[in-house]
Amino acid sequence: MQPVWLSALLLVWCVVSPAASAQQAERRNFEPSSDPQLFGAGDRSAAPDGGLYSFDNLSVAQDPRAYRPDVGALDFVYHNHDEMTRYLRATTARYPNLTALYSIGKSAQGRDLWVLVVSASPYEHMLGKPDVKYIGNIHGNEAVGRELLLHLIQYLVSSYGSDPYIKWLLDNTRIHILPSLNPDGYAASKEGTCDGGQGRYNSRGFDLNRNFPDYFKQNNKRAQPETEAVKDWISKIQFVLSGSLHGGALVVSYPYDNTPNAIFHSYLSQPSLTPDDDVFKHLSLTYANNHGKMSRGVACKTASPSFENGITNGAAWYPLTGGMQDFNYVWHGCMEVTLEVSCCKFPPAYELRKYWDDNQMSMIKFLAEAHRGVQGFIMDPTGNPVERAQLKIKGRDIGFTTTKYGEFWRILLPGVYKLEVYADGYVPKDVDFMIVEQHPTLLNVTLQPSKVAEHGVVLTPPNPDLNRPLASAPSFGPVASSDDTRDNTGTNSNRDRLVFTS
Ligand SMILES: [Zn+2]
Repeated sequence: MQPVWLSALLLVWCVVSPAASAQQAERRNFEPSSDPQLFGAGDRSAAPDGGLYSFDNLSVAQDPRAYRPDVGALDFVYHNHDEMTRYLRATTARYPNLTALYSIGKSAQGRDLWVLVVSASPYEHMLGKPDVKYIGNIHGNEAVGRELLLHLIQYLVSSYGSDPYIKWLLDNTRIHILPSLNPDGYAASKEGTCDGGQGRYNSRGFDLNRNFPDYFKQNNKRAQPETEAVKDWISKIQFVLSGSLHGGALVVSYPYDNTPNAIFHSYLSQPSLTPDDDVFKHLSLTYANNHGKMSRGVACKTASPSFENGITNGAAWYPLTGGMQDFNYVWHGCMEVTLEVSCCKFPPAYELRKYWDDNQMSMIKFLAEAHRGVQGFIMDPTGNPVERAQLKIKGRDIGFTTTKYGEFWRILLPGVYKLEVYADGYVPKDVDFMIVEQHPTLLNVTLQPSKVAEHGVVLTPPNPDLNRPLASAPSFGPVASSDDTRDNTGTNSNRDRLVFTS
């Protein structure tokens, strides 16, 4: 059964289609609009199963088409900061209904950290649909990812009208692309330099991928403008899935990068596995298996490690403190992996075409994984969204939260799960649900306000400290036992029905 409010929303979805104004083309303020008109231009009614997208229909039956790059619009050469800026601006001018450009801040030397959104709804979050991101060039001398992301932009905007898979992806996803998180380091690095550290760091000498708060260790490194910008960005947009592009190896590395006992581990390089290890392995394999050669796991050099199937746990490769992927996962519930896309960090430009050919399918298929698992809304009995409800999949002690519209997403593989929901002022709730391979599970949960006892004592646990990492935040307190929630018909009245999409 579908709640009345959701039916109403779906109706609005089909009729509201805000036009993007040209003046919005370069928006500096990346905070999602507080405009009550939440709905994007994505045509949900055109989804193949009549209202909700089906992961399987599109990913299996219909692959993205082979893409011939439009070299007139974007050549296979390296683009310095000014050239990159010009390309991004020209793209927003040429594709105003599919793109929006914003800056999340400036580098230490004052270069803009540009993000281009590519989506059928570039200006507004689409209710119920995931936001995803790619970040390139966090190490300034690892230059291939930066160019791959520019070509990905070109691929997406120029295929929207002709490729049903890309149309589906952009109609149902907002893709935020930050081609260079370290433009100062890039400016200091040199084409043709395969190894070494020149340009790796920001202009103040900090390794940005060692500059984030760490789950396992105190990170005493001084926060840099580039990492502060990322922290601010991902606190305001709830990203479901993310890839950070690097060079110097050919492998997908997934959390954790750090480990509770680094001294011991740094010698033995033991894996440091998350409770979502199955999901991280799957996401990593999605990238590696769609890549031209990554899954073969061939070592870059004789002295370099080889990686079985082209994937590795971060700490099993080598542990590090202050990495971006652990921060995304633990603090924000965003599934981020590290994509090492080239053995040579800054290969000559004539090789870029080959890197694009190897990575284009991986980059698309990886993003589509945001549509796997469970998604839904947490609401109160009147149908209003419950913002910042704290959620956890039972047995996976990394939490995630709802958006201000009450939405949540969690990428999960097929199986049976329990969602634990806690929100200040409401009775905690457990909901059983199932994930199938073919399409995401839609799960809407209604929370009942906590009852106030006669003496005015609220019978719910205190509000957890929201500033703590999500891993430690969901101390759910006295969750009602399953016996408590069963009514005398023997059914569980306190659990929401599964709403499947077909
Ligand atoms: Zn790197």
